[in-house]
Amino acid sequence: MSTYDITIIGSGPGGYVAAIRCAQLGMKTALIEKYNTLGGTCLNVGCIPSKALLDSSEHYHNAVHNFEEHGIDVKSVKANITQMINRKNEVIAQTCAGIKFLMDKNKVEVLTGVGSFIDKNTISVKDAAGALTTITTKNVIIATGSKPNFFPGMEPDKKRIITSTEALSMTEIPKKMLVIGGGVIGLELGSVYGRLGTQIEVIEFASSIIPTMDASLGKELTRVLKKEGFKFNLEHRVQKVENKGKSVVLTALNKKGEEVTFEADYCLVAVGRKPYTEGLNLEAAGLSVNNRGQIDVNDHMQTTVSNIYAIGDVVRGAMLAHKAEEEGVFVAEQIAGQKPHINYNLIPGVVYTWPEVAAVGKTEEELKAAGVEYKVGSFPIKALGRARASMDTAGLVKVLADKTTDEILGVHMVAPRAADLIMEAVTAMEYRASAEDIARICHPHPTYSEAIKEAALDATEGRALHV
Ligand code: FAD
Ligand code: NAD
Repeated sequence: MSTYDITIIGSGPGGYVAAIRCAQLGMKTALIEKYNTLGGTCLNVGCIPSKALLDSSEHYHNAVHNFEEHGIDVKSVKANITQMINRKNEVIAQTCAGIKFLMDKNKVEVLTGVGSFIDKNTISVKDAAGALTTITTKNVIIATGSKPNFFPGMEPDKKRIITSTEALSMTEIPKKMLVIGGGVIGLELGSVYGRLGTQIEVIEFASSIIPTMDASLGKELTRVLKKEGFKFNLEHRVQKVENKGKSVVLTALNKKGEEVTFEADYCLVAVGRKPYTEGLNLEAAGLSVNNRGQIDVNDHMQTTVSNIYAIGDVVRGAMLAHKAEEEGVFVAEQIAGQKPHINYNLIPGVVYTWPEVAAVGKTEEELKAAGVEYKVGSFPIKALGRARASMDTAGLVKVLADKTTDEILGVHMVAPRAADLIMEAVTAMEYRASAEDIARICHPHPTYSEAIKEAALDATEGRALHV
């Protein structure tokens, strides 16, 4: 029987990054993954494939709607969904192969099959053919991730009532798609098909889209997406969704309590994800899940059983790949006797619509609720020369700073390349910069980053230069 210093169950961004760091720190490391490809949700059915399709659909959208104004004549542009999906699959294959390369390079032993606890130091691995391998291990990291969630009445049948996984492998461009949930997945995958010509109708329970982000972002994104043809039905309570063969019919109660129905060829259910622990046989290790299905951990990411740790989507906190990665490194270093740290306040959130949405730190709503006195600075993207040159004029940057000390407390933006721009704010906040610090830093011209400087100027001195 093989024996390891550490065994990691699940090869998503939490698990595979933990494996690399454990190996770098000299631990004999095993990584168990039930699927044949490594990388978990993120690489196979999440971050990477969704961004591949977002890029393809954006190129198509630009060719149809924006090329002419740029002086580029293209006749009869057509979207080839089969080729888009094939390219996406190729991107997945290359990226997953890259993880296998990294495991080999770091001498991490990969075991393919479902990992189940026999006890807190013994794990069985059952492969697809049913063959069992048993290993022993000093420590364990559970990194088994999450699966799409749904509520009664909206159970996905994976044919017409679909989850993000099926939406990433469509064989046709739908004429109309209902999207339950105006959160990250609904708006990203809604954007993919909306750009290809699908009529997107969002049915959202809350009173705004992306309801957990700063309210100004939901407002701006609603404006942008409505212009692109999205229809939004807010404060709607979904009762049921039925597959009628060639269509789906969704019944909901609107905010007045009236029953309303929607019909389309597909319905994407995107109401969040739930932690995944099936098959782990947690009880055998002395573990259980809480009422949200998560594995409870302390500040050291340690479960109630001291040699077993858990990270990523299967524990509390944001379900984000970069958060899972940070936790993977954290646990590896913790086990190696180091004193790592994660600043959960500075985990940025991004929505890959166009323009992108990105945020870090506190929202205005959170600051108000906490009674913190703050200043607001904002700047519209349309005032940038860079934005007019690229014809990307929608969006804004908002900087929130402490009223007394000027320390930056939150930065929120809808902007071209906001996913990359937000890192200036994350870095500044990690060093506890003031709004004035950013306002006094020279930003290259013409760039979108100038909007951050201008919003910081507005926050610190109540004046921007270019509005
Ligand atoms: P996962 O990536 O879910 O990996 C868990 C792995 O464990 C899986 O491979 C699973 O097969 C394996 N496993 C489970 N049980 C067992 C077992 N018993 N034995 C062996 N193996 C097992 N996040 C971002 O930060 N940015 C994005 O742009 C982004 N886009 C997304 C788009 C979509 C459509 C979706 C669905 C998610 C997206 N996410 C994004 C979220 C991101 O994918 C997750 O937060 C991240 O993958 C979580 O990583 P993880 O390591 O915790 O788990
Ligand atoms: P989400 O939490 O972002 O959005 C779910 C939305 O559904 C919310 O707006 C919520 O109010 C709404 N909702 C909940 N119940 C509803 C109901 N019964 N009827 C109508 N609406 C309802 O979840 P998601 O979009 O499914 O994404 C799941 C997770 O994956 C998220 O935690 C996210 O962090 C992660 N993810 C991240 C990215 C990214 O970082 N760009 C992309 C995709 C997914």
